[in-house]
Amino acid sequence: MVRILELEEYAAKNNIPIMMKDGIEFLLDFIKDNEVTSILEIGSAIGYSAIRMALLNKNIRVTTIERDLERYNEAVKNIHDFNLEEQITIINDDAFNVELNQKFDLIFIDAAKSQYIKFFEKFKANLNCNGYIVSDNLNFHGLTKVDLKDLSRNVRGLVRKLNSYIEFLETNTEFSTTFYEIGDGVSVSKRKEDEMKKNAFTLIELLGVIVILAAVMLIAFPPILNQIQKSQGGVDEATKTIIINAAKLFVDQNDDEFKTVNGNIYCKSFDDLITSGLLTKGMISGSEDALDDKLIKISYNNGYVYEIVNTADCTSNTN
Ligand code: SAH
Ligand code: MG
Repeated sequence: MVRILELEEYAAKNNIPIMMKDGIEFLLDFIKDNEVTSILEIGSAIGYSAIRMALLNKNIRVTTIERDLERYNEAVKNIHDFNLEEQITIINDDAFNVELNQKFDLIFIDAAKSQYIKFFEKFKANLNCNGYIVSDNLNFHGLTKVDLKDLSRNVRGLVRKLNSYIEFLETNTEFSTTFYEIGDGVSVSKRKEDEMKKNAFTLIELLGVIVILAAVMLIAFPPILNQIQKSQGGVDEATKTIIINAAKLFVDQNDDEFKTVNGNIYCKSFDDLITSGLLTKGMISGSEDALDDKLIKISYNNGYVYEIVNTADCTSNTN
């Protein structure tokens, strides 16, 4: 495309460090291969790489940040010329002032080399969980491989910074990085598998949690009917509520048996509730004898009334 060539010529003429040819080709292939559709770019310069990425596919959205006003203006003009305003959002600010809450499939770091670790740390929060962080210029035109003694002080400082970025990536516990000797040195970082697993419950873990919860429940709520106080022959309020709720469910489920005739009285044993699954054997272990002489008395009088009474105090009366 002629106009792409024009951008490349403009960059060469004006000393604007756009991506090298094989570097950008690598990046474009990577985007295609991995079906990346949302991209955050740190360092737009004149918009060259943002435009090339957006031209790949109409579904691709690029947010790109450029702090230099002159380059930003040039980029805005170029994005307009390519009719890509819909796909590319450009922000004129220092990336460290920009707060985004959106997440991206790919973050492309191509800005001040001394700040790469900080860019990485700041923007990894904006990366989708299986997204990629791509960094450019890790070779710094081959200088990261040169003996530091042979470099000017200024350049030495930058090379040191880039080398510590490389070490940061190599030793990162959260991301694993592959380095490519392409263009000016490109790296691709991806969240480690086990890091991703850490954040997601596996089914086994979920089952484990359920088992633990069940154990906690058993400790916190000992077999409820154990609480029937044999000596006083009474039942505490909480236990009563549980039994009566079970009895209400039982009535709901067997409404043909519990006719709504005033004066009717039904006597139900705890066994009836257990057989229907509304109370469990486990709940009454150790207190069977306490239940022997108790019944649930359900009387109908314009509504059901539920009581726990001694066996002798319940006589059924059904019409
Ligand atoms: N990605 C572009 C080239 C970017 S050159 C391309 O390949 O076409 C790097 C750009 O990053 C420069 O224009 C520089 O002004 C910008 N930059 C450097 N540090 C920055 C920062 N902290 N915030 C925003 N932009 C920054
Ligand atoms: Mg670059």
